[in-house]
Amino acid sequence: MANKERQSVLIIEDEEMNIRILGQILSREFSIDVATCGKDALVRAEQDVLPDLILLDVTMPDIDGYELCRQLSDNEKTRHIPIILITTEDQERQEAYGLSLGAVDYIVKPFSIPVLVARVRTHLQLKHQRDVLTDLTVHDALTGVYNRRKFDDCIASECRRACRNQTSLALIMIDVDHFKAYNDHYGHLAGDRCLQRVADCLLEHIQRSGDLLARYGGEEFVAVLPETDHHDATVLAQKLCDAVAALNIPHAGSSLGRITISEGVAAMVPDIDMPVSELVGAADSALYSAKEAGRNCVQVYVG
Ligand code: GH3
Ligand code: MG
Ligand code: MG
Ligand code: MG
Repeated sequence: MANKERQSVLIIEDEEMNIRILGQILSREFSIDVATCGKDALVRAEQDVLPDLILLDVTMPDIDGYELCRQLSDNEKTRHIPIILITTEDQERQEAYGLSLGAVDYIVKPFSIPVLVARVRTHLQLKHQRDVLTDLTVHDALTGVYNRRKFDDCIASECRRACRNQTSLALIMIDVDHFKAYNDHYGHLAGDRCLQRVADCLLEHIQRSGDLLARYGGEEFVAVLPETDHHDATVLAQKLCDAVAALNIPHAGSSLGRITISEGVAAMVPDIDMPVSELVGAADSALYSAKEAGRNCVQVYVG
């Protein structure tokens, strides 16, 4: 696998014998986690690192397996995880019911181990291919940071969340200074390499869980910082400014002599009818002020 050594399987099963058999067989190829009741399964499926596949026993002591399957398929966070139902019920009607709830496959006990392993492999392969494609749709090909599409999704959902929780949401708009002159002087390939180095440098400093760095377009980047006020966003923006200047990438076409960035900071506690564009516009106007102020600096929007 590309980024992970082993794909992971969550076994949701209450019978010890089955857990042992499945665990023994599957742990040869995959990393295994076990939940022995429905409640425990829901907790595990909500963790930051999610399983790649779920093997779900239909007959569980607390929550019925079908109900669990429905809840996992309805949840935004877990609905992409393929679920294989395992049951003793072999009626066609039950199988169709399980599949209609969102399960990708259905295995009847007593199961053949080679068949079960083959099905698990197939669904994990499909999951991996889907993950690779999803990754391509949200990342910028040149710099590897998130792309504009992901930013648009993220800012909309973070805005709703900040409104719900009445917390401050901050944005930093980042623009490379005199970049047209850099391309003109060093060529576009060198320009591309420069953008990659700037993106790497920004990413190194935007590491808090929940924060997001995206390429907004051209030589512009944007950082989304949930639960962050003006002050903390400005401190981070200043760090980014200093870090990019410290890369010391020579820039003969700039009065500053090296590659620098200008940044606009805005932070708001959104109310229900505040459009996302208001926050973006505010950060943009602060960025404009930073350019006016001589570049290589941070300006904060004051509404
Ligand atoms: P300012 O300091 O006011 O931001 O000036 P600037 O020259 O950076 O701004 P301007 O908008 O005039 O130019 C942006 C340049 O960024 C022009 C464009 O060719 C370059 N650029 C945008 N995307 C890429 C890219 O993917 N690769 C390269 N090499 N250059 C790019
Ligand atoms: Mg059971
Ligand atoms: Mg620009
Ligand atoms: Mg620029």
